Amino acid sequence: MSPVEEALKIKEEIIAWRRDFHMYPELKYEEKRTSKIVKEHLREWGYKIKRVGTGIIADIGVGERTIALRADMDALPVQEENNIPYKSKIPGKMHACGHDAHTAMLLGAAKIIAEHSEELNGRVRLIFQPAEEGGNGALKMIEGGALEGVDAIFGFHVWMDLPSGVIGIRDGPFLAGAGIFNALIKGRGGHGASPHETIDPIPIAAETILALQTIGSRNIDPIESGVISVTSICGGTAFNVIPEEVKLKGTIRFFKPGVGELIVRRMKEIFEGVTKAHGASYELDIEELTPPTVNDKRMADFARKVADKYGLMWGKVKPTMGAEDFSFYLQKVPGVFLALGIRNEEKGIVHPHHHPKFDVDEEVLHLGTAMEVALAFEFLRE
Ligand SMILES: [Zn+2]
Ligand SMILES: [Zn+2]
Repeated sequence: MSPVEEALKIKEEIIAWRRDFHMYPELKYEEKRTSKIVKEHLREWGYKIKRVGTGIIADIGVGERTIALRADMDALPVQEENNIPYKSKIPGKMHACGHDAHTAMLLGAAKIIAEHSEELNGRVRLIFQPAEEGGNGALKMIEGGALEGVDAIFGFHVWMDLPSGVIGIRDGPFLAGAGIFNALIKGRGGHGASPHETIDPIPIAAETILALQTIGSRNIDPIESGVISVTSICGGTAFNVIPEEVKLKGTIRFFKPGVGELIVRRMKEIFEGVTKAHGASYELDIEELTPPTVNDKRMADFARKVADKYGLMWGKVKPTMGAEDFSFYLQKVPGVFLALGIRNEEKGIVHPHHHPKFDVDEEVLHLGTAMEVALAFEFLRE
């Protein structure tokens, strides 16, 4: 069986699925329609199905070893600005990250794998997950048993930074860990003309924000990387009133857990120290949203070998400070988060992920399907 030939045969079907999902985008944990379509196909093709909310875990084949393949199904609260026949029909919602393509590619792989299930030397598990966009749907799937008995996991993301058709394979950290923070600096309000009778939280907030920048410039090893961005500052209402408090909000990003820990520790020390110096107080809540996405070196070598064997073009891909909840699977099971290049300048497919004009070069989606099928059969052959 040739995964590339099989995928080529259903190329138009994969595109049609993707367009259908694209026209009816659903936000995190609301993927009812998408999930129903996926489930009906999988059932028809003989998969054993378990539902986890709007997510689906589907198994086929028997044997000692299990490989999992994952796709995410959710869209974003973005108003589509593309003029295409398959434009989103739902106002304010759009598949602006390409998860419609992920679902369609894995559906294609599901069909091919089912048609050749007698040749399977083990079990293939498909994970169609909800809520990748800020919902940590991966955690729900893991709680629902998605990784039970799984030996390795692979997942694709379409990738605007790679030329169309190139599969990006990276060892080690690929996407960053991400956290969100909310802070409150509490002073004492009063008249704008009498600052000496107040504890003005505004200059304290300003000092804190500047001090936070020294975490990146003075605390993190320059060879490593990390981000601390204060993205919201809110305090005060009138020109002549010193407010009681200032609220800050922002995000942190890092590739190594040690750097993440350092950022969190230094943030606490800075809030503590700066507010104390001025007689103010603070509240700081830092929530780790997603750990770094770290690919397994051995599995990445395996993926490159598989791509070579079937003549699928692969290349290096740069790490990004974006985050992905595929990281939760990789914390438990070795695997690789793969990128599929979809950038096509001639077709004007150049807009970044989450942009209202984001689109994917559909001509290469079957290559993602082919790679998924090839990974499954080759993994179970070893
Ligand atoms: Zn996204
Ligand atoms: Zn995404």
